[in-house]
Amino acid sequence: MNEMRYLGIDIGGSRLRVGLVNTNFEVEEIRSTTTHTGLSPGVVVDLISVMVDDLRNEHPAKTFRGAGAGFPGPIHYPAGSTFSYTNLLHDAWKGVPLRTMLQEALELPVLLDNDAHLAGLAEMRLGAGAGYQNAIYLTLSTGIGGAIFIGGRLYRGSLGSAGEFGHMVVHLGGDTCKCGKRGCLMAQASGLALEKRIRCDPSLYSYCEEGDTSREGVRRLLQDALQGDSVARQAVEPAGEWLAVALLNIVEMFNPQTIIFGGGMGNAFLRLFSKKIDAHLRRHLAPELAEYCTFQESRLGEENGIIGGALLLSEETRLSGS
Ligand SMILES: [Zn+2]
Repeated sequence: MNEMRYLGIDIGGSRLRVGLVNTNFEVEEIRSTTTHTGLSPGVVVDLISVMVDDLRNEHPAKTFRGAGAGFPGPIHYPAGSTFSYTNLLHDAWKGVPLRTMLQEALELPVLLDNDAHLAGLAEMRLGAGAGYQNAIYLTLSTGIGGAIFIGGRLYRGSLGSAGEFGHMVVHLGGDTCKCGKRGCLMAQASGLALEKRIRCDPSLYSYCEEGDTSREGVRRLLQDALQGDSVARQAVEPAGEWLAVALLNIVEMFNPQTIIFGGGMGNAFLRLFSKKIDAHLRRHLAPELAEYCTFQESRLGEENGIIGGALLLSEETRLSGS
């Protein structure tokens, strides 16, 4: 019996997760700890290290091949470091050599990539994108991220940051984004954008149980909108408009076979806005393009980032022949 295992690490703004993944890319076990965006890189690496040690102690007969880690922001892939801006974490995360830090702490080979790249990789190999060659994966969650697949392979661009659709400007002069620009898709249509809308709109503030802007509050707002509540529907409608603008540009630029919606809000956004998106595409694009591209929900759920970490490690190891 093959006792080799991969580790998939998901570094989120509110929790850290480490998954034990077998060579069939099934998640066997997940360790999770809550965190918050104020923690320094050193503390986060220590917390991950504790969870990995825990798994090691519990599975002494298994060989850990290495870890694939996903980070919520652009990654300089060749250097294994974070960019000068991040999506959710604070300023201490700028330009951090996170791959090296993790490698030293875990004493294992580590690959570091953007979290949406890893979630998309899992969907392409084992989920909604299986069988497709040219596809886009979009994470719609507290932040917004994405991944581009061309000929079945993840396209990272020159440094590794390609696919950051959250920072595509859809509204010149719009709201200020984490990256410093204004009107990015993330500033207009993410969970953070909905939280801001709840805080700033007095009638919505009282509707959302005195401004419950937690992840749970946003989830409830989306559920109410799905059930046809007019206040909730009106509150989320602008996000649908901006998302439609982004998709218009994405379909025009990449001519994908399919676009997969993942992340905590992906399912709700697809159900709420698919008619609006379809209408935008048909109105503004050549019919060949508008009719060709399909939209679908992700299939692997919130474990797709962890599975993607294992897949990345497996595929890169095979390519490098080590
Ligand atoms: Zn931005």
